[in-house]
Amino acid sequence: MSDSLHEACGVFGVFNNSDAARLTYLGLYALQHRGQESSGIVTSNTKCLQMFKAMGLVNQVFTAENLQAIAGMHAIGHNRYSTTGSSTVTNAQPILINCRFGQIAGAHNGNLTNAAALRTWMEQDGSIFTTSTDTEVIMHLIARSKRENAEAMILDALSGVKGAYSIVFLTPDALYGARDPYGFRPLLLGQLGSNFVLSSETCAFDLVGAKLVREIRPGEMVRIDKNGVDSFAIPNYESSVHCSQCVFEFIYFSRPDSYVFGENVDKVRRKLGRILAREHPAAGADFVMGVPDSSTTAALGYSQESELRYDIGLIRNHYVGRTFINPRQSGRDFGVRVKFNPVKGVLRGKKVVVVDDSIVRGTTMKKIIQLIKSAEPKEIHLRISSPPIMWPCYYGIDMPTKEELIASAQEIDAVRKYMEVDTLGYLSIDGLLSAMPGEKSNFCVACFRGDYPVPVKGNNNPPSC
Ligand code: SF4
Repeated sequence: MSDSLHEACGVFGVFNNSDAARLTYLGLYALQHRGQESSGIVTSNTKCLQMFKAMGLVNQVFTAENLQAIAGMHAIGHNRYSTTGSSTVTNAQPILINCRFGQIAGAHNGNLTNAAALRTWMEQDGSIFTTSTDTEVIMHLIARSKRENAEAMILDALSGVKGAYSIVFLTPDALYGARDPYGFRPLLLGQLGSNFVLSSETCAFDLVGAKLVREIRPGEMVRIDKNGVDSFAIPNYESSVHCSQCVFEFIYFSRPDSYVFGENVDKVRRKLGRILAREHPAAGADFVMGVPDSSTTAALGYSQESELRYDIGLIRNHYVGRTFINPRQSGRDFGVRVKFNPVKGVLRGKKVVVVDDSIVRGTTMKKIIQLIKSAEPKEIHLRISSPPIMWPCYYGIDMPTKEELIASAQEIDAVRKYMEVDTLGYLSIDGLLSAMPGEKSNFCVACFRGDYPVPVKGNNNPPSC
């Protein structure tokens, strides 16, 4: 990923383990790629809930001491990515409330399309909000529900929201996980010993030693308590609802070692590279390289299909923080340079195929191409393992406006000229869908086609989770 497209959050939950806080910390560690702004854990000691959350990466937020201070038997955790304006600890999750039922905490991955309208309605009715998150809207709906117990109150709340949510809740004696009826974001159930865990991706199960049981189904809520796992259907959804899993989980967001939406991410991402090679060959090129790390797998697929060797033309510095400080008087933009360095001995004089997973605004991609050019390759053939992004996402991915998306504003050849590359090829939408597992119509491709599965007319971009 060479541009600013960001996932909005990863969630994890564990039930009935005396090391629940530490296991959740590990789960969040594995899910760090889904959000790097803040991290939080709520635990239950079976009588009450306790919370610790702060800005920063998981290993910056949690210490042995603060994890010990919230030790408990059950836990949920959350990693958050947010847009700059709402990047405050107030918006960090989980959100913990006290309501008529007692304590309940929630942590959410996704964006609701009716959050702004619900918030306005509740504010006019006297509700006070302390965050700008969609999650707080759900927590308010739970608190306002007149139903008789926690699961009925949660189901009542979820039946009133629209859009994307994979969400976990914790009460003192139960863990809940729910996935919206469209199934935009993944959520999986795992087993650790005789007890259960929930996660946005299976890479977190691998780290804590849990086994995958199954995915939470679109429109399903599970309750995990001392009696095991119970399943409920989220009520009141129109019959027109159609499964719309986000293809970007396979293109970029999920880790290649995860299993989501019924398939291993690595397998699908490699397929994307293979199909890209068939659709846009680069005859006569010397080798294929990826923009590390997210494009490496697709680049390997391209290499295998085209029988061009794979090589490493860019080295990524993994230790660049979000607060990198530019030297005052250098006059150079270090943003990309500090993250990547070209391998001159590999690139000089060669015809190179550069594979990246997507282009958003195009500004970062252009800088990467300039960086590669500084190593004096003979030709650059840019290949993108997704179709041109033409429309913004309203379901949990932070994207710029339609006007800012380079493929929306310009024809492909104009993009090629702007990038200053010899050739440019994007994967087709048909090619993308042919790599998806199972029924192809079960995937959302709205950012390529503009056919939004949940109507977004009048949507004013409510803040992400
Ligand atoms: S619009 Fe694009 S990024 Fe958003 S859910 Fe659909 S496929 Fe994923």
